[in-house]
Amino acid sequence: MQMKNVVLLGSTGSIGTSTIKVAMDLPGQIRLLGLAAGTNAELLAQQTLQLRPAAICINDSPKVRLLRDTVGISSEVFHGPEGLIRLATLPEADIVLIAIVGTAGLQPALAAIRAGKDIAIASKEILVMAGEIVMSEARKYGVRVLTVDSEHSAIFQCLDGKPLESVRKLWLTASGGPFRSTPKAEFPDITVERALKHPSWVMGKKITIDSASLFNKGLEMIEARWLFGVEMNRVGVVVHPQSVVHSLVEFIDGALLAQLSMPDMCLPIQYALTYPERVQSSRIQTNLAKLGGLTFEEPDEDRFPALRLARRAGETGSTLPAVLNAANETAVELFCQRKIRFDQISQLVERVMDRHRIPSKTSLDMILEADAWARKEAAQA
Ligand code: NDP
Repeated sequence: MQMKNVVLLGSTGSIGTSTIKVAMDLPGQIRLLGLAAGTNAELLAQQTLQLRPAAICINDSPKVRLLRDTVGISSEVFHGPEGLIRLATLPEADIVLIAIVGTAGLQPALAAIRAGKDIAIASKEILVMAGEIVMSEARKYGVRVLTVDSEHSAIFQCLDGKPLESVRKLWLTASGGPFRSTPKAEFPDITVERALKHPSWVMGKKITIDSASLFNKGLEMIEARWLFGVEMNRVGVVVHPQSVVHSLVEFIDGALLAQLSMPDMCLPIQYALTYPERVQSSRIQTNLAKLGGLTFEEPDEDRFPALRLARRAGETGSTLPAVLNAANETAVELFCQRKIRFDQISQLVERVMDRHRIPSKTSLDMILEADAWARKEAAQA
């Protein structure tokens, strides 16, 4: 495989540090050209000294001086939202992997596309908010939008270029989270600590709470709708607690193709960075006989309204997915600050969605406006 120059946005997070592991596994094939972090200047400095990228970026501008003093002159240091855009459009970059939690990755993603770079998206918020715009810009500039989400990577691998006419349904698997079997009556007593204990994945805080409420799966339904260009009613969810079947494609002849492997984000990250090639890795080994049973069950939309709300947002489109996403982000923060209960996360999101007036036409500005409105509304509700 030819060497790829990769810009990694969100290098200090869970996906970011796994991406660095993948790059270190493949020194002749992947070069980390740029790294960006939010506030963790110490870890970013360590990564910079170890990997020697051409440029780095920190969102927390007051930390620039400390970073410059620590990393020396071999890596240029940018800062703030403009710095992220400079990093995402570095002339030598082949692909930009976006693993920033929240929506700060949207503008750099669009800038990278317009500069002719392929993008690999972990930050599902980008496709949830502005999937139609991102995909149409990618078509216009002739670049690839690859996915780092394990479910979408699984679907992408199963589709393997097959036309959408041959697809009956895309099936996203959900682990069900830590409260898969918890009775509804106990939901008001769920603590932040319990919600942060995911049964099969180790991830950042926000996505871990989203996995417990199933909002993560809801966001993924909308993400799949845009990424693969299918209507919402062709995106289904099935609960699979072992998290070994990462997702499935049901074809029109009734065949189901699935991608299986032990849960480890290094696989979808590596596949996105080396696509269209598969390269050797001994990191992931799956022993089906040792695993024993793989089980599947229907999701319970009564206990987990996130799925119903996401379907509604995805079907309506326009600014409603951005509203769902922003209201959920605020609700998760409020839950983590112990200001609302676990069961109130979805109630709050639904209230904000009900109050939103959908514009007759949609633009990026309107989406950003709806995002800001929903955050304010959710904080006041
Ligand atoms: P983490 O919370 O672990 O990491 C978030 C990263 O974003 C950190 O590097 C953080 O930097 C950085 N960041 C935050 N704000 C900014 C900013 N304004 N500019 C630059 N960097 C910023 O999250 P995860 O790695 O778990 O998730 C990242 C994204 O990937 C999310 O959208 C999530 O939904 C998605 N995802 C995650 C999966 C997982 O297994 N973790 C699986 C599939 C998708 P710092 O720490 O320095 O503040």
